[in-house]
Amino acid sequence: MNPTVTKRTFLAALGCDTAGWYAAQAEPGPPGPGLEWRFHSGAEIGRLARKQLGRGTLLPFAPTETALQATAKAMGNADATLLFEATFVAGPFVARADALRRTDGGWDVIEVKSAMAPEDGVASDEHLDDLAYTAFVARASGVAVGRCTLMFLGRDCRLGAERLTELDVTETVVQRVAGFADRSARIATACTALDRPAPALQFVCKKCEFFASDCVGKGITDPLFILPRLSEKRFEAMKEYQRLSAVPAGANLTGPQHRVFNAVRSGAPLIDQAELAQLNQLVWPVYYLDFEAVAPALPWFDECAPYEIMPFQFSIHVCDRVGHEIAHHEYLAPIGGDWRHELAVALIERLGDRGSIVVYSGYEKQRLAAMATSLPEFAAALHAIIARLVDFEPIVRNGYCHPAFLGRTSIKNVLPVVAPELSYSGTGVGNGEDAAGLFALMTVGRRDPADQDSHRQQLLDYCKLDTLAMVKLHRALEALTRAS
Ligand code: SF4
Repeated sequence: MNPTVTKRTFLAALGCDTAGWYAAQAEPGPPGPGLEWRFHSGAEIGRLARKQLGRGTLLPFAPTETALQATAKAMGNADATLLFEATFVAGPFVARADALRRTDGGWDVIEVKSAMAPEDGVASDEHLDDLAYTAFVARASGVAVGRCTLMFLGRDCRLGAERLTELDVTETVVQRVAGFADRSARIATACTALDRPAPALQFVCKKCEFFASDCVGKGITDPLFILPRLSEKRFEAMKEYQRLSAVPAGANLTGPQHRVFNAVRSGAPLIDQAELAQLNQLVWPVYYLDFEAVAPALPWFDECAPYEIMPFQFSIHVCDRVGHEIAHHEYLAPIGGDWRHELAVALIERLGDRGSIVVYSGYEKQRLAAMATSLPEFAAALHAIIARLVDFEPIVRNGYCHPAFLGRTSIKNVLPVVAPELSYSGTGVGNGEDAAGLFALMTVGRRDPADQDSHRQQLLDYCKLDTLAMVKLHRALEALTRAS
């Protein structure tokens, strides 16, 4: 049998046979900048791990036959005590170990993660399953597996002192390997079947990447999962109805769930004027603020921790009355160098010292508070800005429930309803992760400098759209207060 079940496929099939089958069929498209940046970061951390583990043999990983022969040869060489990217096959299962360390009786299996070491020393299920799959295939292929460890970025990792820490999770992984072995025959059958295993709506569908595009959620505009904070117990009680509009009145729901339920069933928005009345408290001129931020795994600057979130861009629309723009300000960090001081100066200057500052979610407040800590010379000014913030997201969540929001209140869900003329599709950057990825890829030289101007324009357009969306949203909310 050809080795056709990869780690991704196997782990998808753990939750659902059909998901495993889809994963085996799926042809991943080209990654966007966000995913490309994650791959780049993973490769950087892999190199760091190899450096830290010591001199070893880096094996080829494609094509599979070549990788297998190289692995077998290296394992047969008693002088080879450390192998990187060793490949194993057992039946239909194929796996690659980030590192194998020879011991007296066999081999330790090491999995390198791009995450920071868990604060409490307890690895996540996702990381444990990743490693357990590799150990399962290695063991099934005849390798005497010894200790199983996860390597994480150390929490004290700093620029010039980058390091990983190793966490021994052998006991837990051994238990999971036994469970994987028990389920492997069923998973192999499902993932290699010609026909899709019959799907059934279940709670794991909520987070399944195939739900809306291919599987049981396809074509359904009101799946049960649009209910906010839907628990598995409540889902099980309703799943026979498949879609929210089919659930009978009187279902046992929380208050916020009821609002979404009622909006979907009636097909009309629910408006709470008392919530919307908060808009009357705004102090003019009103500033609409949005940040984009990057969080490099390996610190770029002194004193930065791994994954420290650093705003690199802002957009500010200024209005002197609802919907009436009087200015737009923007900042985008230069490529190279430390821009954080410059951004803070520009932000404080542009926001002035009076007028409400509208944001959408708690993200900007968190960023401002973090900036106040890392740049204490601006702490007073940044805390004064924080005091002027007004978050529109809870006002929308509690004051305006539209069936087309599909139970979500992110600006990306709200915008098509309140300002269908605005669209992110023309900006070349579809979301915040891609914006951060594009900036990061330019910073580390992974984009042609000749394209830098057009990439920067894409970033400026994207961020500007976020604040323009808030201006439009404000106008739509204000119209609602006048409508009744
Ligand atoms: S949507 Fe549900 S049934 Fe379909 S593949 Fe995903 S988890 Fe399985």
